[in-house]
Amino acid sequence: MKLILLGAPGAGKGTVAKLLTKMDGSVQISTGDILRAAVAAGTELGKKAEAAMKAGDLVSDDLIMGIMGERLKEDDCKNGYLLDGFPRTIPQAEALKELLASMGEKLDMVVNIDVPRDVILDRLTTRRTCTDCGAIYNVKSNPTKVEGKCDACGGAVVQRDDETEEAISNRLDVYNEKTAPLAGFYEKEGMLLTVTATSSDAVIDAIKAKLDAAA
Ligand code: AMP
Repeated sequence: MKLILLGAPGAGKGTVAKLLTKMDGSVQISTGDILRAAVAAGTELGKKAEAAMKAGDLVSDDLIMGIMGERLKEDDCKNGYLLDGFPRTIPQAEALKELLASMGEKLDMVVNIDVPRDVILDRLTTRRTCTDCGAIYNVKSNPTKVEGKCDACGGAVVQRDDETEEAISNRLDVYNEKTAPLAGFYEKEGMLLTVTATSSDAVIDAIKAKLDAAA
């Protein structure tokens, strides 16, 4: 399947994407994960993105389209992909449309995961992420067995730099201003499925039902 997962930071896009990859071999592509790896490795890309990321601002559309133009042409995309955290602005959505048209590809659906702001704030301040494999934990609802150590790979599990209260508040404002309008964009394209849900399983069920209905 070829899907875009839309939703505010903390809506559960990454968790839903990881569950969907197990269903049919589609690959999760998270621009946030790609950028965090570049920052950790100290590459040119990482240096360009670091300050904006730390403040909870968006990195430039050009930088993101440079990454995605390459990434979507890689072999592992042949079985489908779940775009997590991309596109995030109308210019990115327009550039993606052109890119896919030039590759002769079409998305199946755009899923907008709609979660109340108070749930999101609570999730983001309690979320912890593995710096090695990207596994996501929560200090309240899904803690690691050993504090600070990933159950899956043993890597360090930490609070992300952009998950301080100040950066979270900025990320949610940026989301409302720049990314929320994408729901209208994809609605017009006839591709939007909005799911109001607080559990990842409910989101997966809604996606499956829609894909089955279209098959
Ligand atoms: P995420 O893990 O998706 O929340 O992304 C973390 C940060 O990476 C964001 O707050 C942005 O600074 C940057 N980022 C990730 N994806 C994009 C994108 N599509 N456009 C612009 N900035 C992005």
